[in-house]
Amino acid sequence: MKPTFLLILLLSSCLAGAVEVQPVELHQELSLPAGGTDKVVALTLDACGGGFDAELANFLIEHRIQATIFATRRWIRRNPDGLATLKAHADLFDIEDHGANHLPAVIGIDRTVYGLAGVADLQQLKREVSGGAAAVKAATGTTPHWYRGATGEYDPEALKTIEAMGYKVAGFSVNADNGATLAKKIIVGRLRKVRSGDIIIAHLNKPESDTGKGLAEGLQLLLDQGFRFVKLNGSEVRPLQKRS
Ligand SMILES: [Zn+2]
Repeated sequence: MKPTFLLILLLSSCLAGAVEVQPVELHQELSLPAGGTDKVVALTLDACGGGFDAELANFLIEHRIQATIFATRRWIRRNPDGLATLKAHADLFDIEDHGANHLPAVIGIDRTVYGLAGVADLQQLKREVSGGAAAVKAATGTTPHWYRGATGEYDPEALKTIEAMGYKVAGFSVNADNGATLAKKIIVGRLRKVRSGDIIIAHLNKPESDTGKGLAEGLQLLLDQGFRFVKLNGSEVRPLQKRS
């Protein structure tokens, strides 16, 4: 190979690297009427894999707190008891699509987000989305309308593809537990700052973490302040606005 050709090859691969798309985290809030005084918040809980935080679910049931649950096919298969509990309280819990195998919505298996490799291509992304949806439909009898990819990060092309499949993609405005890794005190601190219109993300699949205890204390504070909890179904969402 001629040195000049090699140089061109090297340069073009560097340029390709420089323009590589970065995934974006989707930040959203509820679209509430301007000037309203109602304190409204949406709680979303991901069930990625792993187990079922029965204590957290029981707290929500006891306090009549509505939540939107994003479950993977993998979680549904592993947690028949957890699924039964959620289904027994369908007035409180909607189960939506978190994919078949908890793959991030970024294109390229050589790319990773929080340690998870991306999908090979858009075809695999579509299988991930539709596989998760089929599992939710089989488990609940209801077709999901919302999708959240693993890690909450999306390539713009992936986002477009999922929306073209007919799903609304669920973001968030308050990350309450950083993937069920935070200490109780920090979770409570984050929930203390919740404002009307926020969409909270936390996890329902890590019973050994501090998430359940942190949410119990933090959500109780919100209830005490008069917050009302809504599901994403029946709510309008918008990109997170700048706050004063
Ligand atoms: Zn997840």
